[in-house]
Amino acid sequence: MDDRYDVIVVGAGPAGSTAARFAALGGARVLLLEKDREVGIPVRCAEGIGDEGLRSVLEPRERWIAARIDAAELVAPDGTRVRLSYPSAGYVLHRKIFDYDLAQMAAEAGVEVRTKAYVHGLLWEDGRVAGVRVLHLGEDRAIRAQIVIGADGVESRVGRWAGLNTVTSMHDMEACVQVTASRVEVEPNVCYFYFGKEVAPGGYAWVFPKGDGVANIGLGVSGDYSGRKKPIAYLRQFLAERFPKASILTWVAGGVPCAPTLKEIVADGVMLVGDAAHQANPISGGGIATALIAGKICGRVAAEAIRDGDVSKKRLAQYAKEWHKAEGKTHERFYRIKEGVYRLSDEDLNRTAHMLAQLPPEEITITRVFRTALFREPRLLLEVAKVFVG
Ligand SMILES: Cc1cc2nc3c(=O)[nH]c(=O)nc-3n(C[C@H](O)[C@H](O)[C@H](O)COP(=O)(O)OP(=O)(O)OC[C@H]3O[C@@H](n4cnc5c(N)ncnc54)[C@H](O)[C@@H]3O)c2cc1C
Repeated sequence: MDDRYDVIVVGAGPAGSTAARFAALGGARVLLLEKDREVGIPVRCAEGIGDEGLRSVLEPRERWIAARIDAAELVAPDGTRVRLSYPSAGYVLHRKIFDYDLAQMAAEAGVEVRTKAYVHGLLWEDGRVAGVRVLHLGEDRAIRAQIVIGADGVESRVGRWAGLNTVTSMHDMEACVQVTASRVEVEPNVCYFYFGKEVAPGGYAWVFPKGDGVANIGLGVSGDYSGRKKPIAYLRQFLAERFPKASILTWVAGGVPCAPTLKEIVADGVMLVGDAAHQANPISGGGIATALIAGKICGRVAAEAIRDGDVSKKRLAQYAKEWHKAEGKTHERFYRIKEGVYRLSDEDLNRTAHMLAQLPPEEITITRVFRTALFREPRLLLEVAKVFVG
């Protein structure tokens, strides 16, 4: 590890590895620092991703794919099931392999990757960020860079250290818990979503198949409710009622910020990307695809700024502008729709499911689901039309 780089990226998740790769492809000297001993572990994710989102940045590799998904089943509080069929909709990934390969692709593009490298502070010079302090294999090092990219996930501190407002309200923070379990009898190409105040208040439960009777089973509860009953207690109940034969292979807990993107994701010499910038989809909590999309923009703009010799907040704001155009504006709409959906009672959800269940399968689309659920909120119906119809 040298003492100086053009760009230092903190965190080798999908956002960090992608930002590092595109910065290197743009000609920058890049260092990627990951605190864990191995990229990709532990996996704190249900591993679902849409085909379109993945392909917008990468060509899928067979070794990443645990299951191919062509339908989603929504389960209402009273058990009514509504199926949405979407051939080739997406995948359940092996994120261990996926994240590892993304870091390797960054290395192939010229990025220096270091694991067991815990960034614990920033370097400052003339009132602006000038690098990081990192503890690497027992050695405390100061490493300088023109740009520091914070890709350090939901518990990000880079943004806070740099003076950006990274606060998430409890309301927007989904507290998630998940097991990967075997002996789960579900269809191998269907992702299941369960709703209701008894299942996961202010969120939902999911069952994502990974092949051979293995599935990720988890749930997210809005921070508004997580103080009353712990998410793990909801999950235990869910497993006992629906998958009593399941045998638990792993379990994880983690948060997802289901909020619009932070107001400021750049400062002088600093950029935030992925969960650190609150770029996950506020309705689904899915953040892999958006981490890839934002990472690509972020890395490219970082390299361009280095080439221009201008890493000021004003120059880096091009990244924020391009992100907003690509996804951020849609996320603001998703956020407003989420607020409408979360206001629905269990009775509203059951009624919606009953109406949809009467339709011929080919007429059940995601737009139809939201239109039916939110029929009393014309303002939100407009948002639904804009998001899903364009
Ligand atoms: C239970 C659960 C289920 C989920 N399911 C899905 C799903 O099915 N589909 C989906 O799209 N999204 C899902 N998500 C969200 C998804 O996991 C995240 O949005 C995604 O991983 C964001 O990528 P990232 O690169 O921004 O952050 P991360 O993947 O969190 O990567 C951040 C990296 O930074 C490292 N790091 C942190 N601090 C430091 C430091 N100080 N120094 C060095 N390294 C550091 C971490 O070790 C980590 O490797 C889920 C989340 C949870 C919690």
